[in-house]
Amino acid sequence: MVPEVPKDHPRYESLITREKLIEGMHQKVVAEAGLIAHGRGEAFDYILGEITPPFALRQEKLAVITLLLAKSPVISVNGNVAALCPKEIVSLSEALGAPLEINLFYRTQERETAIEEALVKAGAKSILGTDPSYQNTITEISHLRRIVDTRGIASSDCVFVPLEDGDRTIALRKLKKEIVTVDLNPISRTSLTSTVSITNNIIRAVVEMVKFANEFKDFNRSDLLEEKKRYNNKDLLQEALQFMSSRLLKLANEKNIFEIF
Ligand code: ATP
Ligand code: MG
Repeated sequence: MVPEVPKDHPRYESLITREKLIEGMHQKVVAEAGLIAHGRGEAFDYILGEITPPFALRQEKLAVITLLLAKSPVISVNGNVAALCPKEIVSLSEALGAPLEINLFYRTQERETAIEEALVKAGAKSILGTDPSYQNTITEISHLRRIVDTRGIASSDCVFVPLEDGDRTIALRKLKKEIVTVDLNPISRTSLTSTVSITNNIIRAVVEMVKFANEFKDFNRSDLLEEKKRYNNKDLLQEALQFMSSRLLKLANEKNIFEIF
């Protein structure tokens, strides 16, 4: 049970999110290290102002277009994603026509089952990554996350891996796959090596991606390719850094900084 958080608390959303993750950990959906990873993300969200800035909307559009243009896009789901936005990730999977695949850094049968249950409860009709008869291994990755589904990540040309670790992103890039990520840290190895990086909180990003996917899904291929020309991943990532640094600079020069809150 999520404890009562007063709605007028200035950090209401953030506290509710933390409680969701703690509850997810008790249900074995979230790994203990997932709580720490979220804390790192929160720090960057504070700098962002806990909003979706205009550059992030453009990153999300580019991400959705890239996934719609792919031959066999897949959405990789970990514990934090399943705890923070299960319904939204199922909606995105439907809008993009991209299957969900459970893929865990801290892999145990118990966690796999807990995440599968959370996704089914959120409306998922089919989930890859749990049937041993379809397992394949990516030799570039040294730990348990090298196990992937032959029907999903193994054969996909474009993988959406939100909240991903850098090693794995780099390994998937070496396999010539396009990688789309959501990562609040614009200078993580994942952000710097992905094909498309979204510098936003996953809670806001996936909802917005669903809207863009529904807007773009009936576009024909040449229209999508035309639309894609309007965006550039590297420029957008640099815009993210400029947004964060200029916000900090503004605060640094603010005479009444102690009166902001
Ligand atoms: P890398 O391995 O890419 O260099 P890292 O080791 O610093 O990054 P990881 O723990 O491997 O970080 O990956 C988790 C990433 O997810 C972090 O960069 C963190 O900022 C980000 N993150 C955590 N929670 C959220 C969230 N709610 N929304 C978006 N990003 C998040
Ligand atoms: Mg890492």
